[in-house]
Amino acid sequence: MRSTGWVNDQPMCVTCGVQYPYGIDLGVCPICADERQYVGYDGQLWTTSAQVGDNHVNVFRQEVRGLWGIGTEPHFAIGQRALIVPGEGGNLLWDCVSLVDDATVDRINELGGLAAIAISHPHYYSAMHEWSEAFGGIPIHLHADDEQWIPVRDGAVRLWSGDSFEALPGRTLLNPRIHFAGGAIVHWDGLDGRGALCTGDILQVVADRRWVGFMYSYPNLIPEHPETVRRAVKLLAEYDFDVLYGAWWDKVVDGDAKAAVSRSAERYLAHLGL
Ligand SMILES: [Zn+2]
Repeated sequence: MRSTGWVNDQPMCVTCGVQYPYGIDLGVCPICADERQYVGYDGQLWTTSAQVGDNHVNVFRQEVRGLWGIGTEPHFAIGQRALIVPGEGGNLLWDCVSLVDDATVDRINELGGLAAIAISHPHYYSAMHEWSEAFGGIPIHLHADDEQWIPVRDGAVRLWSGDSFEALPGRTLLNPRIHFAGGAIVHWDGLDGRGALCTGDILQVVADRRWVGFMYSYPNLIPEHPETVRRAVKLLAEYDFDVLYGAWWDKVVDGDAKAAVSRSAERYLAHLGL
C-alpha cells in the first residue's frame, strides 16, 4: 500500500476537486465560497478521490517532446491538466489533478518519478497531499500569500515567498500575483534553451492562442487590477520564454510567447481605458 496519512476516501469538493482532511467542519468548501469560484448549482456536494477513480482515468499526452501532461477523463471538477516538467534533480509536477491511482503512479515512475510538486493557486490544489504521499512525501511548494487556502499544513507543504523561488534546477517559480495574491507560474529553462512558462490560469491562454488573459475570477468574470497586471509584466521582463503552456490541453502559445504576454497586457489596459 502506498498511502499512509492521506488516503483516497477523504472528502473532496465536487465543484473544485480539492481534497480536505477528515474531521474538518466542511459545510461549504471555502475555496468555492470565495468570490473567485462558486458553489455548484445543486449545492455543496462532496465525493472522494476513490469515487472519482471508479469512473475516471488519468490520460497522459506529450505537449512537446519530453513535456508530459496528465488530465482526468471524463471531465471532473475544474478540468485542468497537470504537467511533468523535467530537469536536473528530477521531475516537477506542475499543478495537479484530483485522481492519483496506482496506474498513474506506475506511469509516472516509468517517466522518472516526481521530485516535487508546485501549484499555481488554490483552485488546483486538488489531491496534492495524496499525490505527495504517493511519491514518498515529496515537497509541495505553495506561495505563502495563499496560506489561508491550504487544506492542511502537513509536513510536505513548503511555503515560499517573494517574487521567485527555484523549486528545482531550471524550474523557477514566479509570483505575478494575478488571480490570487500567491498566484504562481513556473519558468522552465527547457525547449533547447528557448525557455517556457507554465502558467495555469494565472496567465490564461485564450481562444485566440496568440494572446493571454488576466482575470481575478474566470467563472464570475471579474477583471484583474491593472496595477497587478503592470507589475506582472515587469516581473516577467527578466525572463526569456518562447512558449507558454496554459491550464488545459491545447491552450498553448506556441512561439514568441514573451511578446504575446506584453501585447496582451497592453490590449487589456487599453480596454480598461488606461
Ligand atoms: Zn470547492
